Amino acid sequence: MLSELIKKKNLFSHLYEIDKKTAERYRQLPCPYCGGPLYFSNYMRKPRGEPEDVPEKYFIQFSLCCGTEGCRKRLTPPSCRFMGRKVYWFAVILCILTDFQNTYEKASVSDWSMRTGICRNTIKRWLAFFHDTFPASRIWRRLRGQISACVRNSNLPSSFINYCRTLKSTAEDALVIGLICLSDGSKIRAG
Ligand SMILES: [Zn+2]
Repeated sequence: MLSELIKKKNLFSHLYEIDKKTAERYRQLPCPYCGGPLYFSNYMRKPRGEPEDVPEKYFIQFSLCCGTEGCRKRLTPPSCRFMGRKVYWFAVILCILTDFQNTYEKASVSDWSMRTGICRNTIKRWLAFFHDTFPASRIWRRLRGQISACVRNSNLPSSFINYCRTLKSTAEDALVIGLICLSDGSKIRAG
């Protein structure tokens, strides 16, 4: 089960370090609106679904703010920990849905809700998002052209995570590359 991974603090540390590097890379770029300098203007989030005793810094949402008077636009660098404004960790959403879809003949959403402790309606909303909204997103359309046709749009996100599993030797590496690709649409690489 992929969900075993979200019980490990290790994963959250790994994802935090990736986000930190991404945010630093974006901070060094000029403001896309006025060309001015960007500064960190981070804040804390209260995501759900992590194991106990995860250090508080992993809850930081990296955020950037333009320093030019009159612009001051805010920018959010891509994050593989948070999926937009969704409350649960991105990794939790992907693991729970992938396990559900990989075994769905045997379990209903209600069963899955009981097993995971996550509200039935929340799981239904995530499934609806990946079914109805995500396939048309810019990130997915960009990735779509780079990956095997056997990854079915109708069975996201498990079809994509299962595909990542064929490229990586461990489940954790597969999940991490999946999170990176789904958060900023960067090129997927085998190895
Ligand atoms: Zn600006």
